[in-house]
Amino acid sequence: MGHCFDRAKAQVGTDDAMLLATQLLGVSFTELYTERGRRLSLADVEKLKSAVQRRLCGEPIAYITGYRMFRSLDLRVSADVLIPRFETELLVDVVIELTSNRGRVLDLGTGSGAIAIALSKTKELQVVAVDNDERTLQVCAENCREHEAKVELVCSNWFENVRGRFDTIVSNPPYIAADDPHLEEGDLRFEPPAALVGGRSGLEHLEEIITSSMNFLNPGGWLVVEHGYDQQASVKKLFADRGYLDIQHRCDYTDTPRVMWGRSRGR
Ligand code: GLN
Repeated sequence: MGHCFDRAKAQVGTDDAMLLATQLLGVSFTELYTERGRRLSLADVEKLKSAVQRRLCGEPIAYITGYRMFRSLDLRVSADVLIPRFETELLVDVVIELTSNRGRVLDLGTGSGAIAIALSKTKELQVVAVDNDERTLQVCAENCREHEAKVELVCSNWFENVRGRFDTIVSNPPYIAADDPHLEEGDLRFEPPAALVGGRSGLEHLEEIITSSMNFLNPGGWLVVEHGYDQQASVKKLFADRGYLDIQHRCDYTDTPRVMWGRSRGR
């Protein structure tokens, strides 16, 4: 794995340990306190020990337990997919606010399917989700089945195999610059680089999506994207240069500009 740091100094915090215990033993946080005297089976002890060892090596909790909450959905995640983030829930909020109850929506780079599934469970939308990686799409398909979400999955490098037009296009693309030191920190060390890195500048995929979406949006349709903490001005310029109208943004919970959207011409 190559990520283990100094074991002598490493610790697993109480919060992490409790989260691992609840998820791996299938008990609630309350039960952890109220059933202190309960004896664990040897198998459970081994399970917990191995989880703690993995956490000591820095592995994200979501990859150890195999699940992550996104809005009210418990989503299956594996090391093939990006771990859904809280700030991406804002992207879903914006799409929900912009779209009527019907319509065709495209989620580009769906990963675990977090955005596509959340949307299809909230509104009567026809959702198409795209990813360029077959293993990622398998995780997404599993999540769609588990949540009985009607989402059409397409294996495609961005728009390559996408047909037709959409009322809304949404994407949380890889947008971190290849030399960004954050890639060597925390959860990012374990996530698929293809889901994180947006070329040298970080903006390569955003530029392609903002440019090509014009050809796949119905007149007056919205493009909604997530972007990096320092990319607001560049992304706004891309939207403006490509002719989008009514360009707006929203900040995340740390007050960092994180989501931007604009409308295609017409209507
Ligand atoms: N929001 C993620 C992070 O900074 C990056 C995800 C992405 O590149 N879309 O950790």
